[in-house]
Amino acid sequence: MRKQIVAGNWKMNNDLAQTETLITALKSHKNTSNAEVMIAPTATNLWQAYNSLKNSNIEVVAQNMHFAENGAYTGEISANMLKSIGINTVILGHSERREYFNETDELLAKKVDAALAKGMNVIFCFGEELADRKAGNQEKVVESQIKNALFHLEGSAFRNIILAYEPVWAIGTGETASPDQAQEMHAFIRKTLADKYGSDIAESVSILYGGSVKPNNAEEIFSKTDVDGGLIGGASLNAEDFFAIVNAF
Ligand code: 13P
Repeated sequence: MRKQIVAGNWKMNNDLAQTETLITALKSHKNTSNAEVMIAPTATNLWQAYNSLKNSNIEVVAQNMHFAENGAYTGEISANMLKSIGINTVILGHSERREYFNETDELLAKKVDAALAKGMNVIFCFGEELADRKAGNQEKVVESQIKNALFHLEGSAFRNIILAYEPVWAIGTGETASPDQAQEMHAFIRKTLADKYGSDIAESVSILYGGSVKPNNAEEIFSKTDVDGGLIGGASLNAEDFFAIVNAF
């Protein structure tokens, strides 16, 4: 049985006081599903969030990290720094990092390697843009993003990798991929993994969907065979909405 996961990506939202308020609200909700719950606050609030949630079932994860161990990379954060405050999972490859910070597949491969070398788990994001989908190239784009950043890895590395398919045209737009579009792509992703690593590994990797998941559409999206959870942006900033999504499983 694959892990079901619902992760909230807070992006660049919530200062310290807002982080504490939202965490208090999250703690007042009950997880009635089997899904593992994660939240990704901004870097400055990870330590506070970690401490507030360390005796809970909510894991605190990072939104990004650098590939180097340490050194002259002003403004950056290393895997060791995250680990030293109890953070064991990092989101890599989000489309906003790719678009606004020029993160390439090649750079992401280095970040993935660095995280795995430190024993961290990676939530690896990818997804096509609207123009790709309009041209019917969505599978080609997704396949190349996965191959370029991950296919140099040994199959055993996938024990520590969670995939997150986030079509760029569905992020923050209110437009979701239809449950069938999500299922179709998730099945394609799993087949791409199976062709390279065999079906045991492909069947064991959790593939999350992200892009305008809300309380009113989560249940249908999560009902699809190859959708193992969600990476939630906007709706993760409200405790009630977020737990409605978690409990949609
Ligand atoms: P929204 O849920 O706001 O569309 O964001 C999705 C996302 O980018 C999660 O990483």
